[in-house]
Order: sequence, then C-alpha cells, then structure tokens
Amino acid sequence: MAFDLVIRNGLIVDGTGSPAREGDVAVEGDKIVAISKGLGAGKEEIDARGKVISPGFVDAHTHMDLFLVRYPHGNPVVNHGVTTVVIGDCGASAAPIPDGTEPVQVLVNYLKRVMDDYVDAKDFKWKSFRDYQNYLRGRVGINAVSFVPHSPVRLSVMGEDAYKRESTPEELEAMKQLTREMLEAGYIGFSSSPRGGPEIHAGTPSPFASQDEIVELANLAGEYGGSFQFNGYDKLLVEESGFPRMVERIHANLIGNEFRIHPGVEDEGARCLKLMADASGPGKFFSGVVIPYTHIRRFDINDVFFLDGLPAWEAIKAAGEGLPAKLADKDVRRKIEQERINLTRQDSTFAAVMPAKAPPGEPYFPSWHGWDAIVFDPFANNGSPLAGKSVGQIARETGEAPVDVFFDNWLKDDLRTKFIYYGWANDDLEALGDMIKDPHGLIGTDTGAHLDRFFWHGSPVKVLSTWTREKGLLSLEEAVQKLTSHPADLLGLRRGRLAEGWPADITVFDPDTIEDLVSERLPAKVDDREVERHPKGIQAVVVNGKPVVREGQCLDVFPGKVTKQELNA
Ligand SMILES: [Zn+2]
Repeated sequence: MAFDLVIRNGLIVDGTGSPAREGDVAVEGDKIVAISKGLGAGKEEIDARGKVISPGFVDAHTHMDLFLVRYPHGNPVVNHGVTTVVIGDCGASAAPIPDGTEPVQVLVNYLKRVMDDYVDAKDFKWKSFRDYQNYLRGRVGINAVSFVPHSPVRLSVMGEDAYKRESTPEELEAMKQLTREMLEAGYIGFSSSPRGGPEIHAGTPSPFASQDEIVELANLAGEYGGSFQFNGYDKLLVEESGFPRMVERIHANLIGNEFRIHPGVEDEGARCLKLMADASGPGKFFSGVVIPYTHIRRFDINDVFFLDGLPAWEAIKAAGEGLPAKLADKDVRRKIEQERINLTRQDSTFAAVMPAKAPPGEPYFPSWHGWDAIVFDPFANNGSPLAGKSVGQIARETGEAPVDVFFDNWLKDDLRTKFIYYGWANDDLEALGDMIKDPHGLIGTDTGAHLDRFFWHGSPVKVLSTWTREKGLLSLEEAVQKLTSHPADLLGLRRGRLAEGWPADITVFDPDTIEDLVSERLPAKVDDREVERHPKGIQAVVVNGKPVVREGQCLDVFPGKVTKQELNA
C-alpha cells in the first residue's frame, strides 16, 4: 500500500543537530511514518535530490495575529519555509475582544501601533479567545500558537480602567482566571509590554500593570509549562528599571524581544548574552529574539535621527515652513556637519545607552557609516534619477560636499524625498554572529508588525544563506536545529524534528541557492506583492502532512493547527 506522501532522495537534516544522511521520508496522515533509504511508493512524491529535507521552521516571534486572517496561507513566512508561528506576542493580540465601544477602540488603536494601519475592527469575526481559535482552525495554512496577551486580557477584565490604573486584587484574580482558561485551551505562555518599555506601548493597557500583576500572570503560565514573553529588552534590562529584580521572581522560560545592538552600544550583544545566561537556571531559560539582519531604516524630514541632539539641528528642525530657507543657508549646514563630527556624545538622545564621550574627531551619531550609507529611496517611484544612489556616490561624481548634495537635492523636491540609512542597528556583524550562534539567541521574524519598517520575514532563510552558506557561522545541522527543535523545545512544542511518529512539518530546500529576498530590499511597505514573493531555493513546505508550498506556489490547503494540545498530539 502506498504512503500518502514520500519525499525522496534528499539529504535528511533531522533538526536535532545529528549528522545529515541521505534518504527518504514517508508520511501517512499528519505523521512521519518512516525515514530510510529506498522507501516504497507514495500517492504523492517530492523528488528532493540535491536538496535538504528538514523539519519545518518555527518562527518564535511574529505579530501575524491579523495577518493570518488577511493572508491565510501563512505568507510571507510560509514562503520562507516556516510551518509554525508564534502569535500573541508583546501583550498584543486580536482576542479576546473586550466589551464596550471605547475599550474596543483602544484595542484597535493599540494593534495599529504594534502592527500597522491594516488593523480594522471589521476583521474581528470573533469575540472570545475560543471564537478566535475556532475562526483560525481550518482557515490557516500553517500552525499558529499564541501567548496569552496581557493588554486584551486586561481590557476584558477591567474595561476602561485597564488603561488608567493598576488592578485591584479582585481584578487580578479575574485576570488569572481568564489566563488559566486560555492556557488550558492551548495558549503557550503569557506576554506583556511592561511599564518602562518602548514608547510605542506607553498609554496602552499593559504598562499600567504593577510588577506584581505581571509576575503572578507569568508564573501562572510557568505552571503550565509556558513561557513569559516581554517587549522592551534594552530599556528594561538595566538595574534602574527594577525589571531585573522582577525577572528573578519569575519562574518560567523568558523570551525578550528586541535583542539587538543599538547604535553605538558596541558591547550590547555580549552584555545581554551574559545577562541571559546569568538569569537562567533550572526550569528557566532566558532567550532574546534576534533578527539576523543589519537594520535598514527609512527616514524623512520629520525623523533625521542621525542629526538629533545636535544644537544646530535642534534649533531649526521645528521651524516648519521656515525650514527650507534655513537649510538653504550653507553656514547652517556647515555648523550641523561640524557638530555631527566634533561634538561629544554627552547630550545625545542616545546618552542613556552610550558611552559618555566619543573620542575626539569621531562623529556624534554613534553608528555613522558615512554618506555612502545614506541612499535616496530606491523604491520611491517618483521618477527621480537619484533614486537608489547614495549621497556619497553623488558627491564623488559632482565634486560637491556630501552635506550640500544631501540638502540641495532634498530642497529641490521640497523635502519630500525619503532616504534609507543602511546600518541602523546590528551593524557589528561579528557581534551579531555571536548573538545568532549563542543558545540564548532565538530567531524570529516580527512579521505582521510595522509593515513600513520591518522587512525580516526572510530571517530563517537568512540564517541558512548568509550566515551558514556564506559565512560558515553554523554548520548546516546546527543552523537547522536553530530554526526547528531549539525554538520548539523552548516553547514546549512537539515539533521541529524529523522522526517516526512525529508530526509531518517538513521543509525541502536547496542549501546552495536558497536566498532570503529581503537582504538588500526595502520596499515602501510589506504589501500584497511583497507578501506573495517566493524566495529562491524553497522547493516544498509540508504542514501536518499536507504540502502547502510547491515550487514557488502556495496551495489552497489549510491544515494549520492552533492550540498547544493539537500541535503536541
Ligand atoms: Zn513584538
């Protein structure tokens, strides 16, 4: 009798780190039933000659809660070999929906900030968290498991008071009750954006919580084998925030988001790795979500971040209508440029995280990569002949000073042009490599968030292409483990391994040609076209025994599971 599916003649990298071996993988229903050479026929077959057969990738950090509703195949991450995503991150999700017009509006506004403008209350075709699970089940192509999101839980229990004050003991008890129900229904932990984290979360419900509230809810998640995920890694993990003492009181795996090297903070990667290692212990493993990219940042006239803090720039930047005349003044430009190069960093907006003084003669902005790193937006679509050219390049061609090239061309189109800055964060590749390789570094994509800025949906492929094939940071076996069993084990999911009796989540890829598409590209926004692009080198993706991607095509099948129990069955 034929197997349902046989993936044949591939190089099997099973996700455990064991050496690769050649062979076939056979699937019956949603399980792997045989791994060997020369297996019998399948009703469906995938020829994997010259390709790697690996477990499907586990994306440990996304904001695809509503993206999955818009793009049910699991784009864009399924295109990149991902078979399981985590949602409900950073205390934000689309369920449960609270009662009352204003709390719903607060939730929508909050989700818009974390995700993007596409969030719309019309898309909420559910009310309770169970309705949401039931909505997703059978409608999504990939597995999606969620953290219990602090803000919607707070809104559901406290209504309008959720974004005004700390909870009473009775309210905390009600939150615990709801959290317990969600954990029992298949949520994988608890997530929050605590007070003192990124400004984007200020004024939203979870920063109004006391540390005691967070500790109680996180430890409840720990009792169920779940993790505590939080946002605001860099700001919170300094002694003054009180957060490190809170970490000591939490008994669960911890996952901090935004584990990255901020501009000018050279030792941040090593310091955070040590901090996570020190805070880890029995039953408590502390990870930081690493984006394996040097960050690219788009900026416009309202956000010339590398000039912020310079007195000459601060004096004029709010001039509004008068700004062009001031920027046309070459003396003003010279002054800005001199300050950029000569000032100490003492008064910088980055002062909190930066060394107090830059060595004399070094630029004030701490991650200055030169005028070659500032590029006229290549995706502006405005017909400008400058699009895609760097300020440095034009300066060399014209013989003008870079600062004049920058401001003169900007003034020509009334300061409407946008630019791209290459190297905003994670610009130290050696340190970034250490963060990726370290067991405390957890790979996530952040897909579904900040569509105008976050272009990291190729992260798993980036690990396999740039970091493994090109730089040799990891062996193929280590890289696959990093993307599969490592996150699955941390999250308490029985996924991420190719073994008989295990779920048939499988990715077939060509290690020689796989490319992430995202590396050098910063489209105006992650839009429909971007979401549907398929990278080179992903031959097939199988979720729960069903092929969902074959040869660069998403198939209209939706076998994704949505609870911890379903994933672990
Ligand atoms: Zn997040």
